[in-house]
Amino acid sequence: DHRPGRVARVDRGVCTVLRPEGPVRASLGGGVLAAAARDLTALPCAGDWVLLATWPDGPVTVEAVLPRRTALVRRTAGKDASGQVLAANLDAAAVVEPVHPTPDAARIERLLSLAHESGAEPLVVLTKADLAADPAAVARQLADLAPGVPVLAVSAERGAGLAPLRRHVAPGRTLGLLGPSGAGKSSLVNALAGADVMRTQAIRRVDGKGRHTTTWRSLVPLPGGGAVLDTPGVRAVGLLDGVVGLDRAFADIAELATGCRYADCAHDAEPACAVRDALDSGELPARRWESWRRLQREVAYEGGRRAARL
Ligand code: GDP
Ligand code: ZN
Repeated sequence: DHRPGRVARVDRGVCTVLRPEGPVRASLGGGVLAAAARDLTALPCAGDWVLLATWPDGPVTVEAVLPRRTALVRRTAGKDASGQVLAANLDAAAVVEPVHPTPDAARIERLLSLAHESGAEPLVVLTKADLAADPAAVARQLADLAPGVPVLAVSAERGAGLAPLRRHVAPGRTLGLLGPSGAGKSSLVNALAGADVMRTQAIRRVDGKGRHTTTWRSLVPLPGGGAVLDTPGVRAVGLLDGVVGLDRAFADIAELATGCRYADCAHDAEPACAVRDALDSGELPARRWESWRRLQREVAYEGGRRAARL
């Protein structure tokens, strides 16, 4: 008899799986290990629904990872062709960036591409709004980085601006947080939970463990019935895997490209290129264009290497 559960966290091959009677620890079953030997994405990760088996002498194993509705995948540099799943079954994926100091536009664009690629509903959450004179103005300025995506400003400290986020943690829904260490993700989880469920960096520092020691990725069930998944591991560069998310995250450029004379225009030296025209006229900011080019080259380069290995 196999019982279902949801993975809250994976630590050195041991999964903490949430069950109605409470969390259980489970190691990986033989079938899962065999599948993972062929494809790392077969390993369970936080957010996965799994089937558990309990053996007569006590141990619990993960026997199957159920199909994922959405998956946040990080490319694994060179090592294998499959990538690593950072989080599964997110309904919404929030790119979390502090308003202060100045938000990092390139990082927002990169993580937003990843969020789009995952299949979850993307959003941008600007944290520490209490540190900006006019957080709404910062959100408006950044709106061009995130076409078609809501940009919210919140303060975990003041409990301000959280209302639009609540919909993403309604019963049965899971919100993922993607952003660098120190962005305020744990504080946001605590604010949404209305309790101190996550240890924040301030506490970690008091522990003397330093900034980057805590890298647990975990699913936190909220009292209201939804869940939040913090993904502190998402700070590496070169993590984008796939071009679908890029096209969505740069919908403004994709839209301009429909005006190019040639359908396969690389916006390089082709005649009648609407993208380069927009760049020349200033309609498309040079910074935005360079961001897109950099990410696009990365994806194309890795795609080429992968094809060469197959
Ligand atoms: P994480 O690494 O993304 O989980 O970030 P933390 O939640 O640990 O927060 C990093 C630091 O930012 C801590 O010192 C927090 O107290 C601080 N912080 C988090 N949220 C806010 C906020 O809304 N306002 C202010 N002023 N500081 C915040
Ligand atoms: Zn073009």
